[in-house]
Amino acid sequence: MRLPKRVKIGAKVFRVKWVDELRDTDDTKLFGRFDSVEGVIALSKACGVDGELLDTFIHECLHAMNRSVKLGLDEDTVHRLSFMLTAFLVDNKLLADSLMGGG
Ligand SMILES: [Zn+2]
Repeated sequence: MRLPKRVKIGAKVFRVKWVDELRDTDDTKLFGRFDSVEGVIALSKACGVDGELLDTFIHECLHAMNRSVKLGLDEDTVHRLSFMLTAFLVDNKLLADSLMGGG
């Protein structure tokens, strides 16, 4: 799966960055994180399979959208929504070939 290097979410452009490892403040391993101040969506190389990676990417984008337009979504809702949205896009083959073309 090839993700874009930048994504525009609302008025802001986020850089999509790969990192070796991500940890939360309590040292829990994370697959992704978004930083609205720096304008970065960071993804851990620990994201193995494509479905997991896409889910993580969409999850972090939803956080950015949530912040951008103040949707008021909590973590659990973002988690469930990203899971369903990922399945919807994959199951209905709605992703561009350029994303699905390996790499
Ligand atoms: Zn989250």
